[in-house]
Amino acid sequence: MTHAHVTGPTTPLTLSLVVPVFNEVESIDLFIARISEVFRSETQVAVDIVFINDGSTDGTLELLLERQQHDPRLTILDLSRNFGKEAALTAGLQYAAGQVVVPIDVDLQDPPEVILQMIALWREGFEVVLGHRVSRDSDSWAKQVSANGFYRLHNRIAEQKLPENVGDFRLMDRCVVQALQSLPESRRFMKGLFAWVGFRTTYVDYVRP
Ligand code: UDP
Ligand code: MG
Repeated sequence: MTHAHVTGPTTPLTLSLVVPVFNEVESIDLFIARISEVFRSETQVAVDIVFINDGSTDGTLELLLERQQHDPRLTILDLSRNFGKEAALTAGLQYAAGQVVVPIDVDLQDPPEVILQMIALWREGFEVVLGHRVSRDSDSWAKQVSANGFYRLHNRIAEQKLPENVGDFRLMDRCVVQALQSLPESRRFMKGLFAWVGFRTTYVDYVRP
């Protein structure tokens, strides 16, 4: 697939954030406030947020619907039950209309400021900008050991290597989202599919709080 950038640094840009939420009633207002703050002075970036309610039972949907009344940036998808983050992300990507799309966790472990750096690299012509965690210190010892083991094993046996310490937090150009949507897989391992589709890729380092 080919792609040519027709925008320059001062051209307005539409950005869709894709945010799966499962019982996150405590996090949603903080998340929206932080996004507003980060993009307040970015007059060239129009942000919208696609929330995917992944079968929450704690009032997450009701809160989102209430916030949407006063916030035209919000789109809400409501899944019929809890399908898990991967499926929720896949559903959300179909509704992400922006020129660039960023999946992000609602708990702010993926710092939204990093998206500004990602956009700068996209403006230089990259189609995928990965968020690369420089330290797993905030994860438990068990998670660090199991994640390291998983990547080592996967990359020994798989033809398409997974970049390490990279999660779903990344910027994707529209053309990349379209390529992902053309894949027939229904039970998706998103990190694997992201790696498989390729494209002009770079990364930004960040520390998880
Ligand atoms: N999430 C979801 N469905 C699930 C589990 C999690 O949509 O079944 C959402 C969750 O609300 C959050 C994101 O996926 O916005 C990441 O979840 P979590 O922070 O628990 O994952 P981790 O940080 O351990 O990767
Ligand atoms: Mg988290």
